[in-house]
Amino acid sequence: MRVAVLALQGAFAEHEQMMHRLGVDTFQVRQLKDWEEAKDGLIIPGGESTTQSKLLRDLGLFEVIRKEITAGLPVFGTCAGLILLSSMHLGTMDIDVCRNAYGRQLGSFYTEADMKGIGEKVPMTFIRAPYINNVIGECESLATVDGHIVAARQGRQLVTAFHPELNDDLRVHEYFLNIIKKAVD
Ligand code: GLN
Repeated sequence: MRVAVLALQGAFAEHEQMMHRLGVDTFQVRQLKDWEEAKDGLIIPGGESTTQSKLLRDLGLFEVIRKEITAGLPVFGTCAGLILLSSMHLGTMDIDVCRNAYGRQLGSFYTEADMKGIGEKVPMTFIRAPYINNVIGECESLATVDGHIVAARQGRQLVTAFHPELNDDLRVHEYFLNIIKKAVD
C-alpha cells in the first residue's frame, strides 16, 4: 500500500510519520509529475487552505486530483484539507464549512471526544480550525465537539477539523487505512 501526501505547504511531514509508524509507504506530491506515481490514497494536510488551493491550480493539480477523488480515490483531509474538499474548493464532499470557526481567541485548543467507528477519547488538537455546519446527503458526521461537527465521512472521503497527526494516537490514521483496504479489495 502506498499513500500520496500533498506536500505543497503545511503539516505534511507529520502525516507521513504516522503512516510510516503504521507500516505504510508514502510519497510527497509537490508537482504534477509526482501525481503520476501509483497510489492507493491521498492525504491533504492542514495549513492554509487558500494558499494550498491556489498552488493546486497553479501547478495543474487541482482538476486531476478532483477527478480521481470523484472516481473513488480514498482521501483524508485534515483542517485546511477539510476546507479544500468542501464546496469552497474541490467540492468533492457535501459539507457546509465554517472557516476559522473558533475565532482568534479560541483559535487553538486541545480536547478529547468520541469518534464513531474509532472509539472513545480521541485526542483532538485544533489550530485555527474550521468546523462543519452541516453534512448533506450521504455524508455522515463522525464526531462533534461543543455541538459542532469536527469529523465526517462520505464514502471513501474522511475529514477532521482537528490534527490527529499532532498527537500520538494512531487510530484516525488506522481508520483511513481501513477505508483504503476496503477500496483495494
Ligand atoms: N485556518 C486555516 C485555513 O483556513 C486552517 C488551519 C489549519 O489547517 N490548521 O485554511
